[in-house]
Amino acid sequence: MNSKEIKAKFFNFFKQKNHNFVASAPIVLKDDPTLMFTNAGMNQFKSIFLGTEKVEHARVYNTQKCLRVSGKHNDLEEVGKDHYHHTMFEMMGNWSFGDPAHPAGGYFKSEAIQWAWELLTEVYKINPDNLYATVFEGHPEDGLEKDKEAITHWKTLVDDEKIVLGNKKDNFWEMGDQGPCGPSSEIHIDLRSEADKKAIPAKDLINKDHPEVIEIWNLVFIQFNRKADGSLENLPQKHVDTGMGFERLCRLLQSKTSNYDTDIFQPIIKKIESISNKGYGKNEDIDVAIRVIADHIRAVTFCVADGQLPSSNGAGYVVRRILRRAVRYAYTFLDMNEPFMFKLVEVLTQQLGGDYPELTKQNILCQRVIKEEEHSFLKTLSQGLKRLEDIIKESSSKTISGYKAFELFDTFGFPIDLTALILSEKGYNYNEEEFRLALEQQKKRSQDASESKTSDWNIVKTDSTPTFVGYDQLETQSQIL
Ligand code: ATP
Ligand code: MG
Ligand code: MG
Ligand code: MG
Repeated sequence: MNSKEIKAKFFNFFKQKNHNFVASAPIVLKDDPTLMFTNAGMNQFKSIFLGTEKVEHARVYNTQKCLRVSGKHNDLEEVGKDHYHHTMFEMMGNWSFGDPAHPAGGYFKSEAIQWAWELLTEVYKINPDNLYATVFEGHPEDGLEKDKEAITHWKTLVDDEKIVLGNKKDNFWEMGDQGPCGPSSEIHIDLRSEADKKAIPAKDLINKDHPEVIEIWNLVFIQFNRKADGSLENLPQKHVDTGMGFERLCRLLQSKTSNYDTDIFQPIIKKIESISNKGYGKNEDIDVAIRVIADHIRAVTFCVADGQLPSSNGAGYVVRRILRRAVRYAYTFLDMNEPFMFKLVEVLTQQLGGDYPELTKQNILCQRVIKEEEHSFLKTLSQGLKRLEDIIKESSSKTISGYKAFELFDTFGFPIDLTALILSEKGYNYNEEEFRLALEQQKKRSQDASESKTSDWNIVKTDSTPTFVGYDQLETQSQIL
């Protein structure tokens, strides 16, 4: 089944269950001070859960373009290294906004669980033996018992040993310190070999970052309101909020061992291979680089298509960093020292332009912007590399001055983690304490450079820095790698 068919089956399934389609919200949020990027399908329905917006349709479904590069949901570090976390991904979901009086009345745990199971095992024909359901174990401090209601429903579908209790971290969703919240029940799949399955039971590997025992669908049952004093009260209206990772679903339905082997990523990877003249699947460093590029081009293109250009602050700065991370991998591991990522935009547009018309509409803009960003960062990279060579030559010790590393960072925009990487390849390192001091001094110096924070990303305003906007070292040194 190709990815288009997989998506169509999801849509048809919920349409038949009397749900209405709602288009994806923008990936870049302009009017939410708590969030820069959409990171889940539920974001656009927040005011319905809060009770401040009237429900138009009690049952809806959609596929949402999401970005998880910051705050509570930051998967950037995983990207390229694992095979199932992306920066940008599509989250498919169905919702019930609990208004039983509505003609397409709301539903709750029983239907949500039943339908998720039906779709996975009967429509997609996933072997039920490989599926596991997690259920909230309760939390005495909150006065919460285990989710008996969910357990009862699961018991009508699966054997007891397939139901795994999960803690508050994994199985209780909260919008924030206050507001709507509730237990969740997640469906996980065990993709290991039969021998491995015998050796360790799947329930011991769930939510443990095992690459073959992965979460596919999260069903959240919003039934409480967390009050300012921390106590919980029942909500008058209960809601269902579900999210399933589209790329993960395609991976398992296409019997692949990596999301990158699906028809979602393959056309982009093929294009990267042909441009760079490097094959995928032969060398781990090259493979990681190719996966990073294939992933990041999607994140950047979707953001630019939504009107968010790379820039020196706010959401634009995040976009710039994602793109630069990809350029760096390409430069370091694929020997790409000319702009090329912009050529991938066309492939992505051909694939997803039907579902996301903004890709088609903004195709030329995306290409132009990405090419220009690549060009300017490559210039920086090569200048920085030359300067680093000189610094190494001048240094009498194997530890180069942290102040010189800072000069590279500050003047050339040369990422400190790249400096560290190159130095380590040559048997050198840098004085981290000096670097930290230099960074702090610079922050004090730039009077205008104020730091603005959202819950989701820490931003350094750098309008006063004409040459380069420094990465926020304290927050993201490792994120940039
Ligand atoms: P995980 O535990 O695997 O990190 P999650 O619990 O953070 O996933 P949710 O917030 O529950 O994920 O999102 C709903 C679904 O979206 C997940 O069940 C998964 O299928 C998918 N998903 C989550 N994060 C990513 C990501 N970074 N890339 C691709 N798919 C993702
Ligand atoms: Mg996660
Ligand atoms: Mg999880
Ligand atoms: Mg989850």
